[in-house]
Amino acid sequence: MCGAPASLSGPKVALQPRFRDKGDRSMASSWRNVPFFRWSFLRLLFGMKHLTTEWQVGDGREARLAEYVVARAKRGDVQDAIRTIDDYAYNKSFLINVGDEKGKILDAAVVQAKPARVLEVGTYCGYSALRMAAAAPSAKIVSIEFNPANADIARRIHEHAGVGGRVNVVVGTLGDGGKTIDALRTAYGFGDASVDLVFLDHAKEVYLSDLKLIMDQGWLRRGALVVADNIKFPGAPDYRAYMAENEGKRWRSTEHQTVAEYQTVIKDIVLVSEYLGKS
Ligand code: MG
Repeated sequence: MCGAPASLSGPKVALQPRFRDKGDRSMASSWRNVPFFRWSFLRLLFGMKHLTTEWQVGDGREARLAEYVVARAKRGDVQDAIRTIDDYAYNKSFLINVGDEKGKILDAAVVQAKPARVLEVGTYCGYSALRMAAAAPSAKIVSIEFNPANADIARRIHEHAGVGGRVNVVVGTLGDGGKTIDALRTAYGFGDASVDLVFLDHAKEVYLSDLKLIMDQGWLRRGALVVADNIKFPGAPDYRAYMAENEGKRWRSTEHQTVAEYQTVIKDIVLVSEYLGKS
């Protein structure tokens, strides 16, 4: 395509091959960027009910990911663990973690916040916690995960990557009646203005209620950043509307237009919101 005479070249085609990793041409085939051409993505769609209740696709891909990372990524090398998970998601089984494209937005927010303490809600297999650990080399990260099997997978990957000592995966949900919130307070030192960055990447319908629980605890320091994935796809409209209503009052937000994980067809938004404090 690049060598076509100018007179023959029409408007740019949306589905051109994208070279995400110039060092790995195996990722570069264009069809991998169209999720509907991939069996592992269609399998995920068929398993959507299982995914949104159990937070696993149901075909064992998450457990296989842990094996893949331990077998292939260099021990103690967080960047190699991240790269290996991206490789698995492009070339083996599609994964719902934040991915390499949106991951750069998360990295930038983490660098901006310079966090000492991070709260993540929705660990899945631990990919985003790896990225945050890499972007904030001295941060303590507590990541909450609903599914104990996912928590074990993430812990195994974090240990292998050498960040297990400062990333704690806690099984629970913020809305479980106080159990998980109490654990964060008593076992992990969460207190007033003690959280510098929150990453929301779990059940989209509880983003807003969970954010309000976090605010009610007083954990956010003024200037803390809350990064929310999947604002457009699958979407968190009430959360987005809340941030719009509170723009310049309690929050100042930036919408990052991007694409959903591990493909280029489905669009998504990552919302980065700075907490302006109690009004
Ligand atoms: Mg997500």
